[in-house]
Amino acid sequence: MRFPTACPHCTREIQAEFTDSHIHDLTCPHCGGRSCVFVRKQKFELLFDLGTRALMDGYAREAVASFAAALERFFEFYVKAHALEGAAVRGGDFGAAQATLDRTWRHVASQSERQLGMMTLAYFLREGREPDFMDGKSLGSDFRNRVIHRGYLPTHAEVEAYAARVFSLIDRLLTELGPSAAHAELLQELTFAAHLETLPDDVTAVFEEHPGMFRARRFGGEGPVSAPRTPGEKKALGPAPSLNDGQKFQQALRERGQLLRAFKGEKTLP
Ligand SMILES: [Zn+2]
Repeated sequence: MRFPTACPHCTREIQAEFTDSHIHDLTCPHCGGRSCVFVRKQKFELLFDLGTRALMDGYAREAVASFAAALERFFEFYVKAHALEGAAVRGGDFGAAQATLDRTWRHVASQSERQLGMMTLAYFLREGREPDFMDGKSLGSDFRNRVIHRGYLPTHAEVEAYAARVFSLIDRLLTELGPSAAHAELLQELTFAAHLETLPDDVTAVFEEHPGMFRARRFGGEGPVSAPRTPGEKKALGPAPSLNDGQKFQQALRERGQLLRAFKGEKTLP
């Protein structure tokens, strides 16, 4: 998956390909200038956006794998945020907590069932209640397995319903995490900082914040439900109507879906 970025030396557009590390070492084909683009976006967000792109482009079956992976990576994000939040409360050193967490995660990294176990406990410990979303129906596991493992060809509507369910669950858990999500985001910042240290002097570092389906929620914006802008407007409108999963997803898609077009470089930079 490619995205357009601007060369910091000559300002002309360069096409870059998303990397797993979110770090992109680039050489400008126009002026030969070197740069390094750091994309501030979590893996689950990127995967969900890729799924949305695939769905918008008519690749319903392919989209399912991205949505399913987004949910798994979000659970990892949640568990890590919770674990690091706990370490912060205990006043421990972040680097030491990170190293212990990495070693711990290795025990579950290759088995998604183990990760679901981690998530179940993390939610219980953090919220003090049973995770009501861990059953197969809420997770859409049957549908996912039929598509991914048994070659089922889903309809667009079925995939949209699955996407809406995943979106709504992640959106809700992000809301519950609130500012604690920053603990897990710090992990990415530290990876970026370590790479930044190694860059030669002639390489210009560029940090990019990409729009996506979840960004407003993570950064304390309006979230999928648009809030009125002034207190007066708020009063006049009353409480926002509660939306079902499908409506929430459709609203987020209307607000932010078009921004995802830029991923494939369809929209050139201003
Ligand atoms: Zn250039």
